[in-house]
Amino acid sequence: MNRFDYLQPASVSEAIAAGAESDTAYLAGGTNLLDLMKMGTARPKRLIDITRLPGLDRIEWLADGSVRVGALVRNSDLAYDERFARTFPAVAEALLSGASAQLRNVATVGGNLMQRTRCAYFHDLGSACNRRMPDTGCDAREGENRLHAVLGWSEHCIATHPSDFCVPLAALDAVVEVEGPQGARAIPIDALHLLPGTTPERETALAPGELIIALRLPVGAAAFSRNARFLKLRERTSYAFDVVSAAAMLEVEFGTIRSARIALGGVAAKPWRAREAEAFLASGPATEEAFTMAAEIALAEAQPSGDNAFKIELARRIVVRALDLAFAGTPAIMPALPASPFSTISGAKHVA
Ligand SMILES: Cc1cc2nc3c(=O)[nH]c(=O)nc-3n(C[C@H](O)[C@H](O)[C@H](O)COP(=O)(O)OP(=O)(O)OC[C@H]3O[C@@H](n4cnc5c(N)ncnc54)[C@H](O)[C@@H]3O)c2cc1C
Ligand code: SF4
Repeated sequence: MNRFDYLQPASVSEAIAAGAESDTAYLAGGTNLLDLMKMGTARPKRLIDITRLPGLDRIEWLADGSVRVGALVRNSDLAYDERFARTFPAVAEALLSGASAQLRNVATVGGNLMQRTRCAYFHDLGSACNRRMPDTGCDAREGENRLHAVLGWSEHCIATHPSDFCVPLAALDAVVEVEGPQGARAIPIDALHLLPGTTPERETALAPGELIIALRLPVGAAAFSRNARFLKLRERTSYAFDVVSAAAMLEVEFGTIRSARIALGGVAAKPWRAREAEAFLASGPATEEAFTMAAEIALAEAQPSGDNAFKIELARRIVVRALDLAFAGTPAIMPALPASPFSTISGAKHVA
């Protein structure tokens, strides 16, 4: 690990002033950043420890029913917050699908949004990687790439975004509040993570020095609480990143879908919102045929980027399964994490 300076600012403005300097990084739980620093993938000259900043560790319910979650709220605290889990069950399920209990106790909301790709070549300093070092090439293109992107990828980078949490957040139109040297602004989550294009090294819309202050779930998001699920398919039952995942949410009235939300994980460099599939489902019947067609539409543009054609069919199936389960209704005890999304055992539940 390289030598670095360590600062522990006492206020947001002090943190932002320090963050505006070049070669700095904000340190929250450290569960991603410190690993990257140990491997040499990240080499900040200054670490700005934000964990003592006041007021960023609160979950606030606003008068209109929306919720504001501070950037330093721990992943486990959010998942097990009773009101939050009841109102946004798919978000709680996604949080509890990620990492391990120990990691979730340390990982923060802001850090989860900003975590880096798990592409093995990105982590291996001996490999060519346009994302780690611009214009050096992409060893994943001809390498081990069965878990890489099938949507939105470019010749320059085929990596996926690893966060589970961000998938239902994308479906719910979450908004990220940031503050930086130029002031405060709000970024819709769909605009936070960038597709690789010709500049994969630019991963998010954050400007240098911008700090995530909070995450907001808008008032309309609560309308999906009764029919919402998040499903994640991984290579072992727990403690693994996704192969593919899906968040599905429905507003249903007398068997007719009023509106639908669908987002996919593990398929692209950002959580992938399937807006055309949502539009197809709206005002139609909640049938198996409709769900199958919605999944077709959601994956219509998908292309393998290597040995990963299987992911396209897997993603279709997980969308259908997530819609089926969402339509069946949010289980009374949440989060309910089945051993496998394709399991036929319906009773498996996980309680806080
Ligand atoms: C073994 C292992 C398994 C994992 N499995 C999963 C999984 O299955 N699913 C999943 O979703 N995640 C998984 N994770 C990732 C884990 O969720 C992230 O490491 C964690 O969420 C990052 O949060 P943190 O607070 O520790 O961030 P840090 O490591 O402190 O920071 C991560 C990045 O975010 C930046 N950052 C942090 N806070 C802010 C802020 N407020 N504003 C601006 N930038 C900020 C940092 O500068 C850094 O670049 C796993 C991690 C490990 C180590
Ligand atoms: S897929 Fe992206 S992150 Fe992976 S090696 Fe290629 S450029 Fe780097």
